[in-house]
Amino acid sequence: LNPVPSDIDISRAQVPKKIDVVAEELGIQPNEVELFGHYKAKISPGVLKRLESNKNGKFVLVAGITPTPLGEGKSTTTMGLVQALTAHLGKPSIANVRQPSMGPTFGVKGGAAGGGYAQVIPMDEFNLHLTGDIHAISAANNLLAAAIDTRMFHESTQKKDATFYNRLVPKKKGKRVFTKSMVKRLEKLGISKTNPDDLTPEEIKRFARLDIDPETITIKRVVDVNDRMLRQITIGQAPTEKGFTRSTGFDITVASELMAILALSRDLKDMRQRVGRIVIGANRDGEPVTAEDVGCAGAITALLKDAIKPNLMQTLEGTPVLVHAGPFANISIGASSVIADRVALKLVGKPKALEESAETGYVVTEAGFDFTMGGERFFNIKCRSSGLTPNAVVLVATVRALKLHGGAPDVKPGQSLPSEYTEENVDLVTKGAANLCKQIANAKQFGVPVLVAINKFETDTEAEIEAIRKAAKEAGAFDAVATNHWAEGGKGSIDLAHAVVKATEQPTNFKFLYDVDQSVEEKLTAIVQKMYGGAKIDILPEAQRKIDMYKQQGFGNLPICIAKTQYSLSHDASLKNVPTGFTFPIRDVRASIGAGYLYALAAEIQTIPGLSTFAGYMNVEVNEDGEIDGLF
Ligand code: ADP
Repeated sequence: LNPVPSDIDISRAQVPKKIDVVAEELGIQPNEVELFGHYKAKISPGVLKRLESNKNGKFVLVAGITPTPLGEGKSTTTMGLVQALTAHLGKPSIANVRQPSMGPTFGVKGGAAGGGYAQVIPMDEFNLHLTGDIHAISAANNLLAAAIDTRMFHESTQKKDATFYNRLVPKKKGKRVFTKSMVKRLEKLGISKTNPDDLTPEEIKRFARLDIDPETITIKRVVDVNDRMLRQITIGQAPTEKGFTRSTGFDITVASELMAILALSRDLKDMRQRVGRIVIGANRDGEPVTAEDVGCAGAITALLKDAIKPNLMQTLEGTPVLVHAGPFANISIGASSVIADRVALKLVGKPKALEESAETGYVVTEAGFDFTMGGERFFNIKCRSSGLTPNAVVLVATVRALKLHGGAPDVKPGQSLPSEYTEENVDLVTKGAANLCKQIANAKQFGVPVLVAINKFETDTEAEIEAIRKAAKEAGAFDAVATNHWAEGGKGSIDLAHAVVKATEQPTNFKFLYDVDQSVEEKLTAIVQKMYGGAKIDILPEAQRKIDMYKQQGFGNLPICIAKTQYSLSHDASLKNVPTGFTFPIRDVRASIGAGYLYALAAEIQTIPGLSTFAGYMNVEVNEDGEIDGLF
């Protein structure tokens, strides 16, 4: 339609297929689908076993140029591309995307279903609750937080080691027995006894007393709401807590380590091990204390046993979408899950017995923010976890965003656009295309073909689009294609789909950016120099202290995620386009040992956003038929 209606109106106007039909079309068997109402289902990872011998389908990563407040349309392009591949080229394809957090949905960003005629439907169900995975993570995380504080309370109030030990180790039929996690703790401590009655007083003390240093606890409570008032709180104020107050705070659920673990786990067994490895803080001797030590890794995994199953939904054109996990794009990988990728690649793959020439389908997945953030972590962290590597990268660019990088005035979301954006200006586009070219060079360093998708807006002119195409080709892109999926759906993305098919037929020469066994400092330098274009890093004393501590604790050989502003290749949001020669500050380094990476902070990153005076939730209403209005 012209004009294109609002995202929620488009979503509501389209009657979705029943989700069991979508599942059947994908070849998923009835016993492998768990329906959640009519339009959502969970897929059992059992599918992986059945299709184990299938050859994987082709794997495509959608990433972007350095974002601007104008929005570049990565999700929209992801949906448009699979709609084109499946519904127009007849090639089975699945889009793999993250589950949005309700924090930003009710804040300023709005939903993340894509937009226009390229989106996931029903978008209200996609954006709100879905099948409850985020809630399950909140419950699991808060169990861990409660377990830590309660453990410290009991250790402090029960002074005698023997009494404390006797209360800690449960009795079965009158006999004391160790739980599985207790056995793991004994192994860690090198105590080889299996009968709880055999421990010496010294062993009892070492085993039972975690002696957590409250100052070192890194686990906060979480909630999926942008509730800024919870950033810092004092717990334990009731008289029953006997004065054991502690200053702590909340993060938004998607910033939790458990969310990163959900995204990076290969299967339930791997998840159980990762949860056990979460370092919650240190004891008073500076040794790491884990979720396993606290004894709740098994219960946490039990709470997540359904969350680990990817959710099936559909695009506006009835093609399949897997929605799974939603780790923060800043302090985490900002991408969908390893499990969803593995399931999807098998579902669109082909039986090994078929001819080499038989066609496989496509899995298109997305990584948050720009290529230097989402893309770099996708390769260096997620691919390391999954063992999967993409066959091509699609970089999304828009004329408007490149104009901003090229020097057009800065804009805020929702503001009316200055004339530089609404009238033809090839010069600004050409200048800003340097940012795209840098991102192309970045992606090429991983040894896969790079395509550019120029997401068309109404005001773009042919000359502006041609300027981008030319610059992209000169920078070594395999192809650069204008796409109009927002206004036309899959039909508008047919050229891009053809280009993707060709690009994924090219040979790849995959390589990581750094070796995990390099020092932490070398890995940080590699990312800053090779991705961001910086000259060198400057590690501040606090960050150096933490790096030395992690090395000493044996965590020095993990990959690294750098949290910084998404609005610049550098650490300074005001430096647009392609800044060079800057010194990149490393202010702090933290660890997500269970998830399996360290993360460095270039600035203080807000891990629970706030709400603005006028926030998204104020638009939302529901009518007497239960239809939601006002989501965008
Ligand atoms: P990203 O994934 O890069 O954050 P999205 O795909 O979520 O971006 O798009 C951001 C917003 O911009 C959505 O509301 C979407 O409807 C809108 N949008 C995307 N592409 C276009 C386009 N070509 N024309 C108009 N609006 C668009």
